[in-house]
Amino acid sequence: MEPVGGPDDEDMPYFFTLKCEECDSITPEQCCYMSGSFFHVGKEVNHVAKCYGCDREGTVKLIPGHGSKFTASDAIEGDYTPLMMFQCEGLVPEDYLFNGGWRLTTVNSSVNFLTSFL
Ligand SMILES: [Zn+2]
Repeated sequence: MEPVGGPDDEDMPYFFTLKCEECDSITPEQCCYMSGSFFHVGKEVNHVAKCYGCDREGTVKLIPGHGSKFTASDAIEGDYTPLMMFQCEGLVPEDYLFNGGWRLTTVNSSVNFLTSFL
């Protein structure tokens, strides 16, 4: 099981709230983070957000190259598999929401299944 475009797909959306390292406030909504999105020109991060509690500014940068597929043996062993590395400053991820498009492959068939979790 992996994101449809692979673990480093620039369009793979990761949804989570952010928690402020200063005042512990949590953003009221899930936000979407993608490695191919740069909403703040001139900064080398993907996203800049401001805390609702204390106005502290935080950044989120997605760093591709650290993810891999989640395999049947991972599931059997109860292992975790990293998908993406996040470099966060000021605000840190909280409450990840499993979402996006995924490719599922069985061990007994060469058929790929594409699905979307909402
Ligand atoms: Zn804060």
